[in-house]
Amino acid sequence: MLKIKDLKAQIGDKDILKGINLEVKPGEVHAIMGPNGSGKSTLASVLAGREDFEVTGGEAVFQGKDVLDLAPEDRAREGIFLAFQYPVEIPGVSTVNFMKTAVNEVREYRGLEPLNSVEFLSEMKKKMELVEISQALLSRSLNEGFSGGEKKRNEIFQMAMLEPKLAILDETDSGLDIDALRIVANGVNKLKSADNATIVVTHYQRLLDYIVPDYVHVLYNGRIVKSGTKELALELEEKGYDWIKEEADAKA
Ligand code: ADP
Ligand code: MG
Ligand code: MG
Repeated sequence: MLKIKDLKAQIGDKDILKGINLEVKPGEVHAIMGPNGSGKSTLASVLAGREDFEVTGGEAVFQGKDVLDLAPEDRAREGIFLAFQYPVEIPGVSTVNFMKTAVNEVREYRGLEPLNSVEFLSEMKKKMELVEISQALLSRSLNEGFSGGEKKRNEIFQMAMLEPKLAILDETDSGLDIDALRIVANGVNKLKSADNATIVVTHYQRLLDYIVPDYVHVLYNGRIVKSGTKELALELEEKGYDWIKEEADAKA
């Protein structure tokens, strides 16, 4: 589904990603962990197509296309969901209206008929129950005055509605409390299917108490220096990152 090969990126003239290799198959949940400043958010941003990063090498092939060649909105239409790609706050536009436009845009791109209001509402109701979001929250202006937990719930709702093939969630910088972590985790677990995949970027081992990843990767100094299964996350919880840094620095 996604094959990242020797991906390199920089900001200004500082190398941040120094050759990332990662393969994600349908049905899999991958966790990307690692100490602060390793490049985790940079990886998510590069895949999202944020402009402040310059890709200097490698490729990221998603369903046969190099996503690095696509405009950010086309990456979304191809079926990649990046939570933070969506607007932070839109006063006067409710989540419902915002989502109707977004869902129908994606459908159009995929050659499907747009949903009419009745169909959209019925679809929305199903997904609202799935991610346990309230009508009251959806009626409010998008993200305006939302608490951290409400933003997360809304983000997971957007993900449920858009039915991405690949979701990339960066949970590092959002100041999540344990309730918000649980919301994200429940959403990821419930939306998991045989033909979609998720990459969760986090430095919180605790998130992985709720999401059971198929693979765990440790990013350090711009490279994936260790990969394993959920046992690796448990080992990290117990031992921290120092031993990984030492191993990686010894090799370098
Ligand atoms: P992580 O998410 O793993 O904590 P980041 O991807 O946010 O790490 O950052 C990786 C490195 O890139 C850090 O050294 C950070 O200081 C640097 N960096 C991130 N964003 C910028 C930026 N806008 N300008 C300059 N350096 C940046
Ligand atoms: Mg980060
Ligand atoms: Mg960061």
